[in-house]
Order: sequence, then C-alpha cells, then structure tokens
Amino acid sequence: MRRLFAASALALLLAAGAANAQPVDAASVDAAVRRVMPEVTAWRRDFHQHPELGFAETRSAAVIAEHLRSLGLEVRTGVGKTGVVGILRGAQPGRVVALRADMDALPVQEATGLDFASTATGTYMGNTVPVAHACGHDMHMAMLMGAAEVLAGMKDRIAGTVVFVFQPAEEGAPPGEPKGGAALMIAEGALNDPKPEAIFGLHVVPGRPGSVFYRPEGFMAASDRVDISLKGKQTHGAWPWRGVDVIAVAGQVIETVNTLTARTVDPTTTPTVFTIATINAGVRYNIIPDSATLSGTLRTFDTAQRDALVARAETAIDHVAAAYGATAEFGVKQNAALVFNDPGLSTWLAPVLAEAAGEGNVNPATPPTTVAEDFSYFQQVIPGVFYHLGASPDGVDPAASSPNHSPEFSPNEKVLPLGVKTHVLTALRFLDRS
Ligand SMILES: [Zn+2]
Ligand SMILES: [Zn+2]
Repeated sequence: MRRLFAASALALLLAAGAANAQPVDAASVDAAVRRVMPEVTAWRRDFHQHPELGFAETRSAAVIAEHLRSLGLEVRTGVGKTGVVGILRGAQPGRVVALRADMDALPVQEATGLDFASTATGTYMGNTVPVAHACGHDMHMAMLMGAAEVLAGMKDRIAGTVVFVFQPAEEGAPPGEPKGGAALMIAEGALNDPKPEAIFGLHVVPGRPGSVFYRPEGFMAASDRVDISLKGKQTHGAWPWRGVDVIAVAGQVIETVNTLTARTVDPTTTPTVFTIATINAGVRYNIIPDSATLSGTLRTFDTAQRDALVARAETAIDHVAAAYGATAEFGVKQNAALVFNDPGLSTWLAPVLAEAAGEGNVNPATPPTTVAEDFSYFQQVIPGVFYHLGASPDGVDPAASSPNHSPEFSPNEKVLPLGVKTHVLTALRFLDRS
C-alpha cells in the first residue's frame, strides 16, 4: 500500500514536472539524434536492400511496427493494407501532431553501385520486375523511425501526442487498385482517434546536402493521367479520302493540347504542363487504322485553373475530331492532388526548420515543382506542410545529380541526421505552440 502510494506520488511529481517543463533545447535534440544515427543508417541500408512495391511493403511494415512497439508506442498495423500508425502519448495531454513517411519502392533496376544495392524483384502488372528504392523512401522510413525513438526518449517532457504515419503505395495506386496509399490510409482512419491538428512530411531530392526548401500554397503539382481515344474509319493508305484518317486527327489533337496549354494559361501564376507521352495506332504502312489511343499527364498548381483547362481541352479535342469526321473520348484520372502547404503553418515552420538545419539553409519560398506527391490527400483533411531535403551526393552539382526514379538515384546519407532532427523539432515545437 505504502509503496503504491509512493509510486503514484512520484508519478504526480513527474507529471507536474512535465507541465512546467522547459522546451527541449536544440542541443539536447542534437545529442539524442546523434545517439540514434547508427541505427537509422542500418535501417536505411536494410530497407534499401529489401525494397517492396506499393501495397507489398509487408517486411518494411513488420520492421517498423516492431520498432515502434519496442518504444512503447500504441501501434496499429494494416491501416491501408501495409500502412502502420504509431501513437506516442506524452506525459501530459496537449495538442496532436502527425509526421509522415512513405514506404514503397519502384520497378527500377538499380544502378547506384552501392554495397547494399537492391537485387530484389517484385510483381508489377503480372510481370516479374526489378525493384529498387529509387525515390528515397528507404531514407524516409529510417528517419521517421529515428525520430520516433528520439521523441519516445523525451516522453516525460512532452505535453501532447505525436502520430507517426508510415504510408504505403505513395507512387500512385497500383494497377487495379482504386486508391493509393494516402487516400486508403485516410479512408481507414489513420487520422482518427486521435485526430492530428496538423501533419508534416519531407522528401529527399537533388539539392545541396543540408538544404531544406518548400513554399507556401501550391508546392508540388496536381497530377492527372489523361487518356484520349480516337475513332476514325479504316481505309487504304492510298485512299485517305475514302475513310477517316485517325492518324492525322491524332497529330492535330497533340498540336491542339500543346497550343491550348501554351496560349490560354498564364504561366507566371499557374505553371502548367500537359504532355502527351504515348500514341498507339496502326499495324501496317499502307493501312490507315480505324482507331488511335493517346495518353499523357497533366501537371497543375491551381485546382480551378486545372478544371478550366480540362474542360477547354475536352471541347477542343471534340471539335478537332468532328472537323475530320472522327470521334473522340477524353478521360482524366487524378493520380495526386495539389500539395498545398498551409500558408500559416508554412510561415510558422521556417524558423523551426532553421533551428534544425541552421540559418541560411532553409528556403521557404522555393519555386514550385511539377512532380507530385500523395501527401496532398492528408492536407485535404488537416493542414500540413511538405518540404524537401537536398540530398545530392557530395561533390556533385545538384543540377546534374541523378533525379528521383532514375536507376542511379543515390541520396546522400549525410542528410539522415537532419531529417530526423527536422521531424523531432517540428513535433516538439508544434506541441509547445501556445
Ligand atoms: Zn517517387
Ligand atoms: Zn517519393
């Protein structure tokens, strides 16, 4: 009885201490980050050697879940197939903040020459394909696991809750799947109970190692897949007037899409890329076929502008086809929404990132980028900020370093501690916000 009382009195004292705790200073965070770095590097290399495609991240999920459990976190697995959610409750109640990392690799044959390069394979569209972490998600998982360990070690000084979201299938919904990883995790309650007030995430990209950059509002493009199917009338290549030349129509459609984008969108306010990347038609040099299919991608930074351009393109393509007696079907499917960084949070975050990266290493007004990220779906539910971490190899001009998704993409491991630190300080400072 006495011992029980003593224990609860001690708990009360500790709790009171937590309530009055000073914010954890950057030097303590630094020291704690340094302590977890050997593990973080080992995790990164292990994930790198064992990459898994979207919604097949079972091994990665098991490694993550085991680690989070070992830290005493509440862990939910199978949230969005292979997604993992870890919940760290501080000694005192308070705000709730989420940190996110993505988990999937790509069907890419790695050519980095690293000792721990991938030799793994996976199944993509029914084929066995090489698989590699060619987008750096191995780094993201390892950094967030490190951040979880650092924050768990500071639990007694934390008032509030940190939700760690490990998300599968960021690289778009795999063929046959209606949703990608972020959308599926949201649908399956990753942001419920507790509901975070804000979410933060990062990505390694070519850039000076140690630099951090982002922008408020539209940062990474909305990405749509576009499919155009044209129907004409088959005829002899020598007698085009006796049919409907769908090849000529396809050429006009491509010109129309390019011109429409260049001539009707203000490029200074809403950068827009509309690319037709495939065209399939015909089997023989002297037969004009009866149909052609085209596909491409649309990248935009303003939802209203995107909707307007899609409507104009549909009308224009219909009219072009009709002028030649052909018909057109136009389909648009969103791969990822616009990464929209909450303006207020973007302003708030800059000094926090500077605390982690050092003054002069943070650019909170970088130009937008036409690549996409499904982090955008979390930002449709709660405000959030997504930022990039420069991770080009040492001695390589960032402008010339291999981009994400290339076989040679090899982010610099020296930025691992910085990613752990930006996660930790973002969570701590957010929870301390008055
Ligand atoms: Zn990617
Ligand atoms: Zn990525």
